[in-house]
Amino acid sequence: MPVQCSSCVEKRAMLKRPKTGHSLCKECFFWAFEEEVHQTIVAANLFKPGETVGIAASGGKDSTVLAHVMKLLNERYSYGLELMLLSVDEGITGYRDDSLETVKRNQQQYGLPLKIVSYEELYGWSMDAIVKQVGLKNNCTFCGVFRRQALDRGAVMLKVDKICTGHNADDVAETVLMNVLRGDIARLRRCTAISTNSEGDGVVPRCKPLKYAYEKEIVLYAYFKKLDYFSTECIYSPNAYRGYARTFLKDLESIRSSAIIDIIHSGETLSIREGVKMPVQGTCSKCGYISSQMLCKSCVLLEGLNRGLPKLGIGKHHRLHNKIVNNEPLTEKEESKLKVLDI
Ligand code: SF4
Ligand code: ZN
Repeated sequence: MPVQCSSCVEKRAMLKRPKTGHSLCKECFFWAFEEEVHQTIVAANLFKPGETVGIAASGGKDSTVLAHVMKLLNERYSYGLELMLLSVDEGITGYRDDSLETVKRNQQQYGLPLKIVSYEELYGWSMDAIVKQVGLKNNCTFCGVFRRQALDRGAVMLKVDKICTGHNADDVAETVLMNVLRGDIARLRRCTAISTNSEGDGVVPRCKPLKYAYEKEIVLYAYFKKLDYFSTECIYSPNAYRGYARTFLKDLESIRSSAIIDIIHSGETLSIREGVKMPVQGTCSKCGYISSQMLCKSCVLLEGLNRGLPKLGIGKHHRLHNKIVNNEPLTEKEESKLKVLDI
């Protein structure tokens, strides 16, 4: 016998909600999903009327659902926001060029302005060129560091007040796990925050309206709404460590679906013992971007690329980085360290 929707008790259930296990019809699922995102936005006071909000759009399922739901809720609840799409073109042939075509279609479908900033124009290097030089080991370090700054630069060009990103509950839980595994206490403290304030000039506040939305539900929502999104993996995706954390999380979820929310909850309620040294946020002496070191990671990585020393910014050797970037003479010990590091 067909199962009835447990919410409207009228229509036939089409799916079992991964988050709650409830059997729902399509309409009741849409409503529940959208309402939960709305509650997240309201409870955390993410937006103020009159604000201009840039939606970080990659063409993937998360950001496509985010753009769709943000537009819908903005109209349904009169948030009074001006929405825009903001995309980063990393310069990855066969991946980002195709996914950006999806974003361009989304722009038409949702009637939102779109701004694309590219690594090539901002840094003079596309990811294709970076991978040619650094290989497939540390490429995601370059890509992640450059993306963070690229989104800020795009947001400043668009004059938006805030950026919202499509990070979902699985992403946040995975990041908590990764930071525990790496012992990165500063990031562990920050990574569950639903929004960040501007930490300095050129750094636009960010928020994650999908923070409590399960990836599986995002996929179902996109599927049943027939949203136009791009689902291919990046061709340079070798991030094995994150991959293990992801598989571990999915295994836990299959035994107990609340594992995802439970890990986020653990991250949110962790408190750091007094006296634990935390990096002090300052600004990069070269480009002015926020940095806890004299030079921001992006400047060190870029300098390494431009000098043909692609391993320069990999690892924590700040004093050495500063000296090299500033053309200061190295001591004998530092020279030998360079050799050991194979920089
Ligand atoms: Fe960039 Fe790595 Fe993501 Fe590909 S997988 S888009 S290289 S961070
Ligand atoms: Zn810098």
